[in-house]
Amino acid sequence: MDLGNEAYLRSILDSVPDAMIVIDDAGRIISFSSAAERMFGYIEAELIGENVSTLMPSPDRERHDMYLNRYLVTSERRIIGIGRVTTARRRDGSTFPIELSVGEALFGPRRVYTGFIRDLTERQRTELRLHDLQDALTHVSRVTAMGTLATSIAHELNQPLTAVTNYVQTASDMLADPDPDKIALVREALDECATQTIRAGQIVRRLRDFISRGETERQIVELPRLVSEASALAFVGVGGRSVEFNVQIDPTAELLLVDRIQIQQVLLNLIRNAIEAMEKVHLKRLELSSQPGRDGFVQVIVADSGPGLAPEVAEQLFQPFTTTKAAGMGLGLSICRTIVEAHGGKIWAEPSRLGGTAFHFTLPEAEIRDDE
Ligand code: ADP
Repeated sequence: MDLGNEAYLRSILDSVPDAMIVIDDAGRIISFSSAAERMFGYIEAELIGENVSTLMPSPDRERHDMYLNRYLVTSERRIIGIGRVTTARRRDGSTFPIELSVGEALFGPRRVYTGFIRDLTERQRTELRLHDLQDALTHVSRVTAMGTLATSIAHELNQPLTAVTNYVQTASDMLADPDPDKIALVREALDECATQTIRAGQIVRRLRDFISRGETERQIVELPRLVSEASALAFVGVGGRSVEFNVQIDPTAELLLVDRIQIQQVLLNLIRNAIEAMEKVHLKRLELSSQPGRDGFVQVIVADSGPGLAPEVAEQLFQPFTTTKAAGMGLGLSICRTIVEAHGGKIWAEPSRLGGTAFHFTLPEAEIRDDE
């Protein structure tokens, strides 16, 4: 292409509001539009020849070369011509949500990829406000549902408990005036107590089954993708910018068999809680990692550098309505537990090596691995 044409083309491309980045098949930047310069805070000259992964946060940053290689080898399109919402990284290290569309072009033997990028910060803020509103609504209906459930449980439990009280009272009265003839009756009363206690236990068990029966639709999900979707949402509009976010997913612990939306909800809750907990600390560090667990489970850890758990909540962290926040509902962690347990996993909290709290949870691993 002669220079005249190139300058002409460039001036057209510069008028496009979306950022455009062209890379070669090794991921090196060949062209970086002025909209991209504004969006990312770099000038083109600094980036020519650099790996495009510089513009991505972890885990894509470490994986992009692998993504490119995989495509060269398998020709399987995971993003080209499809596009996706993901997160990008500015020069100052801050991240922002983007919509990325990727195209491919061949110049003789040379293969190049064009990326068009739209900044979604504003759109996501609006969506988030809607989302918050919707959240508030579901909270209300959940509380109402729980209220109704609690009333009926209280009612059902009251019957065996009243019976137990009566039998114990009778047994105690009979023992006040010990009469060998009445021993058999005392025994009967105590047996009846045991039966009623078992009944109360069954009611509680039924309640637990009812709560965890929620519809789950399991599919094979890539943890890195789940993390980037959930964190893109969690970081918008909650002062997440000043948080140093680190993702370390063990490549042998990244394919899960889970309900994608529910697990996103768990990650979102835990990340939001961590960001909120770190509001007043100077050094804000958040680390999300995974490691192989036992018996076909993967362990996921969300660790923060916040102040740790308040002693008054530590004991009953996962119980509904446990909160230290003025506007908190105290339902986030109990929902997390219900979801994780419905997947057969466990969730718990420990002090984190970053100084704050680390929430650990386990999820079933997907057995089948596609050949990467
Ligand atoms: P809510 O966020 O509405 O209070 P949650 O069930 O999500 O409800 O959390 C319950 C409580 O657990 C919070 O109020 C807070 O005191 C504590 N907590 C949760 N996550 C953290 C964390 N990462 N660091 C410190 N405390 C936490």
